[in-house]
Amino acid sequence: MTLRRSSIRPVPPYEKVCYVCNEMDAAAAKDVATGGYICSECIPYAINAEMMIISAWKNMKVRHPEPDEFNEWDNH
Ligand SMILES: [Zn+2]
Repeated sequence: MTLRRSSIRPVPPYEKVCYVCNEMDAAAAKDVATGGYICSECIPYAINAEMMIISAWKNMKVRHPEPDEFNEWDNH
């Protein structure tokens, strides 16, 4: 599994089949690499694998993120 950038995107909480636990639940995110949805219970595990999305979500919540953190990712 090679993911240089996060393939997980936040999505509206529609009922989707989570591709991690295979249960119908309110989706928390979509993995655009696999096309699968991830429920709110499984999202912590998915996030664990892709720390990038944490930065992305923090970026949405705070007005002044640390841009250096993103540059480090982008340079790879
Ligand atoms: Zn799940």
